[in-house]
Amino acid sequence: MNRLIERFIAYCKIDTQSDEKSLTSPSTMKQFDLARLLVDQLHDLGIDNAYVDDHCYVYATIEGTRPSSKMVGFIAHMDTADFNGHGVSPRLITNYDGGSIILNDEYSLTPEEFPNLADHIGKDLIVTDGTTLLGADDKAGIAAIMETIAYYHDHPEIAHPTFKIAFTPDEEVGRGTAYFDVEKFGCDFAYTLDGGEIWEVCDETFNAASVEVTVHGFSIHPGSAKDKMINASNIAIDFVNMLDPVKRPEHTSGYEGFYHLLSFNGDVEKASLSFIIRDHDEDKLEKMIQMMQKGADYINLLHDKKIIELKVDYQYKNMRKILKDHPYITKLAMDCLQELGVEAKKIPTRGGTDGANLTFMGLPCPNLGTGGYNYHGRYEYLVVQELMIAQQLIVKILEKI
Ligand SMILES: [Zn+2]
Repeated sequence: MNRLIERFIAYCKIDTQSDEKSLTSPSTMKQFDLARLLVDQLHDLGIDNAYVDDHCYVYATIEGTRPSSKMVGFIAHMDTADFNGHGVSPRLITNYDGGSIILNDEYSLTPEEFPNLADHIGKDLIVTDGTTLLGADDKAGIAAIMETIAYYHDHPEIAHPTFKIAFTPDEEVGRGTAYFDVEKFGCDFAYTLDGGEIWEVCDETFNAASVEVTVHGFSIHPGSAKDKMINASNIAIDFVNMLDPVKRPEHTSGYEGFYHLLSFNGDVEKASLSFIIRDHDEDKLEKMIQMMQKGADYINLLHDKKIIELKVDYQYKNMRKILKDHPYITKLAMDCLQELGVEAKKIPTRGGTDGANLTFMGLPCPNLGTGGYNYHGRYEYLVVQELMIAQQLIVKILEKI
């Protein structure tokens, strides 16, 4: 087994699940287990300046052997998503034959359910045992970055410029950049290695907001309710039905935005709805928020009092707004992929990345693929050959700056 894969599997076995409900930073202390291992490994590779800070961010500078006018960074996150991350037991399947992969007695990866598998015939895959996620998201990114440093350590004759790396906690709970020290990181631009398919280069994310809707009802015995009862649940249903039913995640793709009703809790007296709303176009997102507000205003007008209210929080913005003024960064990654024999494609992410926040914090940061698929669950797998290209991509980028 090659060292990159050994490295990847070793990282996957360390439980680093983050916790949305936690108020600490990092959200789970076990993320330090991986952070400290990475710092130790960096020290062993001669990177004495590597350290982990109090919030579990790992930073290191890899001194170059030739000058460059630009400082580039590579970033990956250490935590895993909201699915069992304890007891991860990765399994390598060599020369995949295109058939079903039995994960355990209950679960299989089948080409019927996951047609992407057909693209990987003849390649090597790493899968789970069906009881946990794999954690390729984003330990594949970490492995690719670490292996690049080991590669330069093994080959001092290969010249490279100084570059920086960072490993972050809590990406999966939306706090991956909360304590990121952009100024100290000191890069002109960076790449997150946190994508899926190796050919994807992403410099475009959603604009994102969350909307909490509260309906205040009036509960009274149903037998004497006429003209008095205000059933909060019914009003909440009316409100949902005012929103364009086509603009839902299950009916949208590409550049189409959506209202996603995450939860609905209600009785007669009170109803609470949680939405996230998304669109690649900032103006369209604003219009969606206005539509929700107009719906609420209409209901309030009908009842002649404020019975429904909205609380809007903006979450992240489309990084394209800034990256479009720095086309060099995306083009560099695409050119390098092309040189590695991969037909690179620019795709709009239907989600966010830590890079989106970093871009608005002053560090332009597109996202690159790592060869992981079906993130956040038991069907997650990694294509070994794609991860190898991700690692070569880092070297190629460093060759060109
Ligand atoms: Zn990720």
